[in-house]
Amino acid sequence: MNILIQVAYLIASVLFIIGIKMLGRTKDARNGNLVSAAGMLVAILATVAQVDAISLTDILICVVIGSAIGLYTAGKVEMTQMPEMVALFNGFGGMASLTVAMSDFWLNTQVNGFQVGPIIGTSAILSIFIGGLTFTGSMIAFLKLNGKISGGSVMFKGQHMINLLLLIAAIVVGVFGMMNQDQPLYFFILIGIALLLGILTVIPIGGADMPVVISLLNSYSGMAACTTGFVLNNNVLIVSGALVGASGIILTQIMCKAMNRSLMNVLLGGFGQTASVAGGDGPEITVKEVGVEEAAMLFDSASSVIVVPGYGMAVAQAQHVIRELSEQCEKRGIDFRFAIHPVAGRMPGHMNVLLAEANISYDKLIEMDEINDDFANTDLVFVVGANDVVNPAARTNPQSPIFGMPILNADKARTVIVSKRSMGKGYAGIENELFGYDNCLMLFGDAKQTITKVVSELKEM
Ligand code: NDP
Repeated sequence: MNILIQVAYLIASVLFIIGIKMLGRTKDARNGNLVSAAGMLVAILATVAQVDAISLTDILICVVIGSAIGLYTAGKVEMTQMPEMVALFNGFGGMASLTVAMSDFWLNTQVNGFQVGPIIGTSAILSIFIGGLTFTGSMIAFLKLNGKISGGSVMFKGQHMINLLLLIAAIVVGVFGMMNQDQPLYFFILIGIALLLGILTVIPIGGADMPVVISLLNSYSGMAACTTGFVLNNNVLIVSGALVGASGIILTQIMCKAMNRSLMNVLLGGFGQTASVAGGDGPEITVKEVGVEEAAMLFDSASSVIVVPGYGMAVAQAQHVIRELSEQCEKRGIDFRFAIHPVAGRMPGHMNVLLAEANISYDKLIEMDEINDDFANTDLVFVVGANDVVNPAARTNPQSPIFGMPILNADKARTVIVSKRSMGKGYAGIENELFGYDNCLMLFGDAKQTITKVVSELKEM
């Protein structure tokens, strides 16, 4: 039986790896998800087959309750709330690792009176620490993303020093806990420190820097699961946790590069703290408006168009009507492409997912580094619900919280049309001087509604 279970775990691990590999190609991504889900099913069945501490009925009840909650919330959540959901899932993953590792450790040391060895003990301490930190860190990220607490930086004097002291305290308490395994108090103190550290490391991260912290927390949740795998001596948990941990760290590095930040800044917390300068707002911006008819004429007369999608496109669910716009332009022989900023929207790959959902061909989506030099030779740039990712302050204003972040060079195009509802700010909460530039025209209104009208105008031309 044990051999069968280990073989099942091996199969599940291979399915996870194949699934992740398939996620790298858009056309295979859906199937990749299914392959990984099949791996998870194999892993769950193999795990259930070896459980004897609780009955199959109890397990089934838990599975049904958990699945019902998962199905209900996933079905109800809006596309724009996905990032918050990801943050919640990261947090729950961390809490699950903490409680599972703690309960196994408790069973061994308090109920059965054993002393666990250094590998299992260290793994349990790491699971509790990383899991706790991930839980509260993710909850803060969740509250920042849905606007319940300020998205900006919340710093107080000596915060780095307090974080460092807490980290040292966690190591000391963990060592004492290992040496005195019959004293559960150490573990409760460790949980307290981890929960506090999660809050203190994420709360200072503000403005446009949240994507990095989300992918880092994602990685932490994987690492916590991996160390819990060592506590339970469960190979599939070790492998899947390591996969999540490693891919999260890779994504974090990609995000750091995109934001022009160092990973060390993120790990120390307080990254993006200049956001507390309330954005470095400049002088009042005077804008020029454009109507749908005039906008349609500009499209009609252009020979090259680049669309810059942003969070507002997700809010408006404008991706389908943008596909219609692309069809109208391509019918006229206009070169029509999309420029994708790595942190556009509210989660990594947010724009790619939405545009793929609208059946826009993947080869039309061009990454920032590849397309940035082309803006200067482009007739028309259409900014749809994007703001921070085209804000020239990132290049020009050292006081700005986004200073140093690479942006899409939309301002260099001959003409820029910006579709947004008002002069509302983006996630970083700062003004955008692009809107006042001579070559920039504002197309005010909900993106889906205004673009629908532009498409109708084009159809009549
Ligand atoms: P922004 O958040 O900078 O701007 C979005 C704009 O969309 C707003 O200015 C808003 O203006 C407009 N908008 C909102 N609703 C609509 C609508 N219905 N129709 C038209 N426009 C609308 O978006 P960006 O994508 O440019 O930048 C992403 C920001 O989010 C960055 O700062 C990034 O760091 C941050 N972030 C990214 C994450 C990621 O992983 N990608 C995660 C967390 C944060 P108005 O109200 O006037 O309509």
